[in-house]
Amino acid sequence: MLERVNCNLCGADNTALVADVDGFHIVRCRNCGLLYVNPRWQEDVLREIYTETYYDHDGIRNGLEFFGYDNYVADEDNIKITFERRLKTIERYVSNGRLLDIGCATGFFLALARSKGWDVLGTEVSQFGAQYAREKLGLDVCLGTLRGLGLADEAFDVVTMWDVIEHVTDPMAELREIHRILRDGGLLSIITPDAGSLVARLLGKRWEEFRRVREHVYFFSRRTMAEMLRQAGFDVLKFESAGKAFYLGPAMERLKYYTWDGAVTSAVTQWVYKLGLSNKRIYVNPLTKMTVYARRCGPDGCR
Ligand SMILES: [Zn+2]
Repeated sequence: MLERVNCNLCGADNTALVADVDGFHIVRCRNCGLLYVNPRWQEDVLREIYTETYYDHDGIRNGLEFFGYDNYVADEDNIKITFERRLKTIERYVSNGRLLDIGCATGFFLALARSKGWDVLGTEVSQFGAQYAREKLGLDVCLGTLRGLGLADEAFDVVTMWDVIEHVTDPMAELREIHRILRDGGLLSIITPDAGSLVARLLGKRWEEFRRVREHVYFFSRRTMAEMLRQAGFDVLKFESAGKAFYLGPAMERLKYYTWDGAVTSAVTQWVYKLGLSNKRIYVNPLTKMTVYARRCGPDGCR
């Protein structure tokens, strides 16, 4: 079933069509600028895709169906390298304590943080992800959404939410719930596609993040993200763009979805394999994802 929704940031119902992707409309709120899918699948239907296939998906490999990961578990080494960089940045703000990772997938970040002395907990809506994290990595992971868990007030020093908020059906309520469970002065780190980035604006409906309308229901710019955080009681400390470690071969294969001329990219990709460079690791930052660090303000404002 499809449902129509008002703007999650300002409550208005006044939109302009930005793109039609596979029959789904990505709209811009004329009042505040937030981009969202409207109408959209109801939450229970949206959640059906987070099966094992989501983490190992032929459709995304072939560029046929835009959701999920090529092979998330096989990419563990690159994901860990990426997460190590992110954890180092977090530790510049908060050096230790209790950390919650919302949408923790298979738990790779939680395992890393635990190895550095953090006391960790995860939430995950995917049964496959939660089970992997629990059974293979011995992590404490709650199956379900954050708002369904009823965690204690001010229980965490750090909350991370990477590649998740664009999937959440009520991000404003999610941020308010994070505010409730973070201690005064605690840190929130969010990563999400940057709809205001140059690549997003140049590619329009061809931008891979827009093409993921089966899983993404909101698209933020730095401005709309900052405004939502402010309304939820956070002080934005810093924006930066988020990169990721890749092997060169698979990175080139993905690049064809970002370029106008797939034939040129395919030819270059073939050479990468011929020259034996496909397993060389590179760190890619196409500036298409934002990381935001925000501090939780108390009732008397931010310290
Ligand atoms: Zn709005």
